[in-house]
Parts: sequence; C-alpha cells; structure tokens
Amino acid sequence: MRNPIQNYLESLADHGHYAVGKVASYIPELAAADPDRFALCIATVDGHLYTVGDGQFPYSIQSISKPFTYALALQDQGPAAVAQKIDVEPSGDAFNEISLDPGTKRPSNPMINAGAITAASLVAGKDRQERFERVQQWFSDFAGRQLTFDQQMYESELSAAHRNRAIAHMLREFEVLESDPEDFLDQYIRQCAMTVTTQDLARMAATLANGGVQPSTGERVAEPSVVEHVLSVMTSCGMYDTAGDWITSVGVPAKSGVSGGIIGVLPGQLGLAVFSPRLDAHGHSARGVAVFEHISEEMELHLMQVTRSSRTAVRDTYSLAERPSRRRRPEPHQILLDTLGEQCRIYELQGDLNFSGVESVVRRMVDDSPEFAVLDMRRVNDVAEVARMTLLSIGDRIQAAGGEAVLVDPEDALPIRDEDPNGIRIMDDLEAAMRWCEDELLRRHGADDEVDHKQVEEHPLLQQMSAAARRYMRTHFDVLHFAADEIILEAGEPFSGIHIVTAGEAVAEFDYAHTDGSTPVTMSVGTSFGELALARDDLQEARVRAATPVTLLKFSAEALDHVSQVRPSIAVDIWKAMTRDAYRVADRAMHEAAAYW
Ligand code: GLN
Repeated sequence: MRNPIQNYLESLADHGHYAVGKVASYIPELAAADPDRFALCIATVDGHLYTVGDGQFPYSIQSISKPFTYALALQDQGPAAVAQKIDVEPSGDAFNEISLDPGTKRPSNPMINAGAITAASLVAGKDRQERFERVQQWFSDFAGRQLTFDQQMYESELSAAHRNRAIAHMLREFEVLESDPEDFLDQYIRQCAMTVTTQDLARMAATLANGGVQPSTGERVAEPSVVEHVLSVMTSCGMYDTAGDWITSVGVPAKSGVSGGIIGVLPGQLGLAVFSPRLDAHGHSARGVAVFEHISEEMELHLMQVTRSSRTAVRDTYSLAERPSRRRRPEPHQILLDTLGEQCRIYELQGDLNFSGVESVVRRMVDDSPEFAVLDMRRVNDVAEVARMTLLSIGDRIQAAGGEAVLVDPEDALPIRDEDPNGIRIMDDLEAAMRWCEDELLRRHGADDEVDHKQVEEHPLLQQMSAAARRYMRTHFDVLHFAADEIILEAGEPFSGIHIVTAGEAVAEFDYAHTDGSTPVTMSVGTSFGELALARDDLQEARVRAATPVTLLKFSAEALDHVSQVRPSIAVDIWKAMTRDAYRVADRAMHEAAAYW
C-alpha cells in the first residue's frame, strides 16, 4: 500500500513552483547550477525518510554547514569559551556583512560569515587539516553516511573570496581569531564545499530534531545541551536579516545556503530540507521559502502553536486474532477466526493528532497493511486537518485494495464532511466494530450460514441506492433471530427500523375494523417491512410475527438517526431508496388487489 503522506508531500511541493530569483553567481562554480532542480525531503526522528523530487542530487552545503560547525565548537570548547568569541544576538545583517558588534567587538552570531569563520577556528585540532577532517567526520555522523568534499567548488570559492578574506582579517585585527586568518578562511571555505544531497540535509536536520542522536544509525553525535543551544541560535539568527519574518511565518529553527538548500528542524519530530537553486535578495532559496511557508501552514508545524505530544499517538495495536470480540461463535467459526483475525488490526489512538502523530500512525498501518483496520478514536482529543485528511485517505486506500476501514468515533473527533472520500465506515463502539469485522471476515471466507448476503444485496431496497449508501447500510444491519411464533413487531409501537427477512417466514397481521378478524400477509425471504410506519405517524400498523424460525437484518431507527447526523448525503440516499421501495410495495399490492376484481 502506498503511503498517503507521500502523495500529500508531492502535492505540497507543487507550491511555489515559479521561477523567481537567480542562482548565486559570486561563487563561479555555483553559477552553473541547474535553476529548475527541486527536492523536498522529510526525515522523521525514528529514521524514516520521505523524498519528493531529486533527493539524491548532490550540491555544496554552503552556509547550512554553519550550525553544525558551531555545534562542534560548542562540544569541543564548551559554551562559555565559545561565548567569549561569538555572541548569540540576531544582527539583522546580511550573511556576509563585514561587521562586529560595536559593543563587544565580537561577531553577533555564528550564522553570519564572521561568526562562522570564528566557529571554524574553535574546532579542536592541531592544524587546519586536522580541524577540517574532524568537521568532515562530524557532518558525516549527522548525515549517517560518509560525506565527501568538492575540491573544485572549494577552489572556485577561494578564487573569489575577497569579502570573506576581508572578514577573516578583520577578525584577526580584533583578536577574535588568534592566529593566521588564512587558515580559518581556508577551513571555512572547505566546510562550505562539503557535498550533500537533500536527503542528507533532512537527516542532518533530523539528528538535531532528535536531540543529537542520528535516527538511522542510533549514534549519539552531539550532546543534548549543544543541540538545544544550536537550535536556539538557528531560531533567532538562522535566516539572517529575515529571521524575524521566518519565525513568524514558518516558525521552525532553520538555516539556508546559497546553493539553494534550506533545512528546518521540528524538535522531537522531524528534519526537513528543501532544495531549489534560485535565490531571493537575502540569499535564501526563493521556492524553498515558499514551500516552507506553505508546508508549515498546511502541516501546522509552527513551533509556537500550542501543541501536543505526537510520538505516542498509537496507544495500543493488536489483531482480532490476539484479542477477539466478546461474541461467542460456533466452534468452526472460532477456529477460522483464530487465523482470519490476523488480517484485521485495531489501532487505539490517543491525544492530539498533528502531522507527525498521524505520520507515525499511517506508517505503521502501511507497514502492517492489514486487510481490515479499525481506528479507535475514543481517546483522541484534537485532529489537525492534515491528520484528518490523511486518515480518511488511508481508509480509502484500504477500501480500494478490497479491505475495510472502520472508525470508532462516537464523539466525532474526526468529523466527516459530505465531500470527503467515503471509504471509511463509522461506528460508535469498539466491540461492535470488532464484531462487524469478524462477521465480514467470516462472510468473505464463505463461513456465514446466518445471513445470505447475496439475498440482501439483491433486495430492491439496496439495489436502488448509491454504492456508498449500500455499503453503509450493509454494515450497519443488526442480525436478529426469532423463534417460530415470536412477535417481531407489535402493532402501535413506534418506528424501530427497516427489516429484511433473510431466512424463514414472518406474517403481518392487520386488524381491519371493517373485517372480522385479521388478514395475515406472509413475508418470505427478501421481503422488507417496518418502513411503512414512517408514513403513518411513525407507528407500526401491523403486528409482525415469526411463522417459522426467522432471521432478519434490521437497519435500526437509531442507525438511521446516526447516519442523518454524520453522513447526511448517505441518509438522503437511504430515504430515497425507502420511498421508492415503499412505492413499489404499494404498487404491487394495488395490482394484486385489482386482479381480484
Ligand atoms: N560559502 C558561502 C559564503 O561564505 C556561503 C554563504 C551562504 O550559503 N549564505 O559566502
């Protein structure tokens, strides 16, 4: 089964697909980039990766290297020593501003070039080569694979690095750098020329999101306190002079690079990376910013949104074989269900379902690929729109694959709208849903002797309905058994539902004032009754009695009420079909009567 999150991300990626901005040209090698290349990757903290577009296309990391080198400096020297050299104040300056803080005479923050060159100098190592090797290994540990260095990119940038050279020498002049600035300039330009893919960047971001543990390798790369510190600085300074705009509109710690990448980190949940080389005036990928804004809004990622735990969305999951319903069944059925039950999984969900909560649920469902899935929503409080749509679409997929998806949702935690896909079936309690799944599994494997479903399917009442209404009715029937002579409906009682005889014979006994005694009408298999009460002040006119042992299906008045509330369009279909069926019955009665004259 294809994961619906993947489709969802593909649809999001279309956003901002326009050719705004220009590829960077101050580094000669970057000017040759294909401006239309695009990738979007999301890496979860439990190691799953979603890719849209060209996620394996390699490019130079550029400024996205800065938070990682800063992290290494922090880990090597400790925060106090690093703070002696680099402030953590948003400067509001462009990334390559030749400036120091006027008061402290230090770089304002490690995300602008001045701070980044300084951070490079704080990496432990006896010379620039050893420091750079450590940087290279450190980046690789974040990515979870060995990353390489692009010599040509490095030479290209070095050949035109007048501005960064000026910054490095200024840093030396103010003794922020304590030895030859050319060494640190070289090291910094090398780190910017490390080759990554968008998948790598998403994984590096996910390692930050995961508190410093690389999600795929399980290796602890950075200390949690270092990660916390780095994420804070990414939040306030990662997007330079648009950091304020970014935190307001996107709301996640981020870092951009002039080759066209942007990473975003949602702590505890995900790492995101987008790649598109055309840049805006601030040196950020223009499409990247648009996609991030769109994704953040759609997926409700903004950090300041008052949220909600997500990793524990699945409270419990089990199969019907492990935990069957409480219904007692004949021994052969019970034995059959011991194996068939494996094909039905129950997912008990809880809490608030946001993007990453539903992502973990859906991935589990895709991995299990059960034929039947029951989603128990009774402990869910709030469902974000993205989660609602995703759950409905996975329901639809299960249905399309020939299975069944059932939502146990008495409180309407996941409200259904008329325009929604209708693959999911809604029930009010888990026990009923489990019983229904068992019945349906048995039926599908030819093991139901109780109900002849073909009979029911062919009943004119169901024939006239839309497929959605038929499916709804079919699954909301109660199966009732009556012994011979038992009374099924009493005359004068209120409308209790529509009944279809599936085995045996029932008789309707009318008390007509003008005749002495009653005129029984026999109702055999396939006949429906009970619905005419709706036309008579909701009162049942005839007494209906079982003439032989009778089995019938009942679509109850409560079920009709419920569907009217949750799925009005289906309710209308059912009503139309009942009206037509009642007319059909009346018409036949008239013809029969006419034949006697
Ligand atoms: N290597 C580039 C520079 O120093 C990185 C800049 C960036 O990505 N914003 O100019």
